[in-house]
Amino acid sequence: MFGRSTIAICSLFGAISGVAQVQVFDEAMMTTAELSNYERTSTFDEVISVIDALDQKTTLMHRETLLLTREGRQVPIVVLADPPLSSPQQAAVSGKPVIYIQGNIHGGEVEGKEASLIAMRDILYGDKQHLLENQILIFVPVYNADGNDAMAENTRPNQELSPVMTGIRTAHGYDLNRDGMIVEADETRALYENVIQRWDPDLLVDLHTTNGTWHGYSLTYAHSYHTAGDSMTSDYTSEIMLPAIQQSVKDKFDLDFGWYGGYDYRDWPPAELRTFHHAPRYLTNNMALRNRMAILSETFSHDRFYKRVHAANAFVEEILEYTRVHGQEIRRINREADSRVAENTIGTEKGVKFEMVPRDEPLDLLTYSYIPYQKADGTQDFVRSSELVTIEGVANYNAFAATQTATVPSAYVFSAAFSGLANKLQEHGIWVETLEADSSFNGQTFVIDAIGEQSFVQNGHRNSLLSGSYRNETRVFSRGDFIVSMNHRLANLIFYLLEPESDDSLAYWNLFDEYLKPGFAADGQIDYPVFKVLD
Ligand SMILES: [Zn+2]
Repeated sequence: MFGRSTIAICSLFGAISGVAQVQVFDEAMMTTAELSNYERTSTFDEVISVIDALDQKTTLMHRETLLLTREGRQVPIVVLADPPLSSPQQAAVSGKPVIYIQGNIHGGEVEGKEASLIAMRDILYGDKQHLLENQILIFVPVYNADGNDAMAENTRPNQELSPVMTGIRTAHGYDLNRDGMIVEADETRALYENVIQRWDPDLLVDLHTTNGTWHGYSLTYAHSYHTAGDSMTSDYTSEIMLPAIQQSVKDKFDLDFGWYGGYDYRDWPPAELRTFHHAPRYLTNNMALRNRMAILSETFSHDRFYKRVHAANAFVEEILEYTRVHGQEIRRINREADSRVAENTIGTEKGVKFEMVPRDEPLDLLTYSYIPYQKADGTQDFVRSSELVTIEGVANYNAFAATQTATVPSAYVFSAAFSGLANKLQEHGIWVETLEADSSFNGQTFVIDAIGEQSFVQNGHRNSLLSGSYRNETRVFSRGDFIVSMNHRLANLIFYLLEPESDDSLAYWNLFDEYLKPGFAADGQIDYPVFKVLD
């Protein structure tokens, strides 16, 4: 009796006041960030406990494991679908696009982790249930679990202790967002096997936080720089999808989002906004070589934590609003790129080295202003003002152009002695075959006449820089040697991995050093061991 009258009073109140019904969530579904008034971010175990709570009253969640980390954390993949599903085969049959969102690849950049949990809760129990109508969503809220839990003060100095304790950037010394080509970290291997190859997402969203520039945006973004890929997937992302999402975030939340980039305030006022890098060792760029779309998201490190979580959450949910409506268009563009690459890439000239160039349209840059002043010693310096200004006509360096190209062969062939290379290609999902009989091929051998070294070290590598020239020849390879055909949807990825002069190749990542360096030292030149077939 008492329960019934309580319900009656509540609905009467609702009817009179006209207040929309507000969903009351269980405490266990609330994130650490929310429950701590945004003073703390979730540990790995706290992420799991929120996912457990979300899982309890729904049939729409399916969970898999990304990997068991070196420190023993079982990193979850959360699949949300309506009707529910439990396999990629069911996803393929449904014909729905698969959207993949990952947070926390840099363990101290925690906003995407909190925002993903909030998005999942809104989708399962809140006002975002329509986001499962036309799409399959995959979340990995805490991609770098070991880095996340290595929490300490001041791991994110630009964030001014907001929150006080955050994780570290790397996972056991690896920057996981530089590992997209050489694939040395367990996390990268697991991502390729258990998400990219297994679920074949149409869009990857990688959630980060910036490291410094005092621009005026709550969040900055980048598409996948296509470099040597088919341009359609990334052009659609940058020219159509991201502008629409930027506008909807402005309309709904009055948040200013803009292009990713930085500038040197000592050149005030800035004439150029420059982005990061085109190389596919960055996961979002890697997706373009796979004919899939990707978005890099960077919340503004100088905003307080609650604002950063809000911006990340608004971005994730508005991306999903967009893909809910345009998912089939995205799938079609991706699959058309698959066919185009498989059928038309052989024999074309593709970039192997690139430079950053401005887009055709300059931008009006929203940024904090800097005030020049003369120091007592006579030199000039700047202080940052607290005023936001718009600087018109800033060149937007958010594109890349090839500075050197190479011809795409019909196949790459290499000796059975390089089984490590074959394994590495297979980790990328590339089909490597063995010759069934001794075979003769016309094509080119790259003759290395210099092996340089990169000027800096990354992920423990001092990268190798090969230079030389091509020798046309006919070569006989033996039964059991390896051949990689290029009439394949991953031809652009294969090309970038295997071209000797590519600026992010396996050779660049020192895969051939042990073989090349002794021979080169003895003779002053050496043949690159991967032969290009050109007929
Ligand atoms: Zn980052």
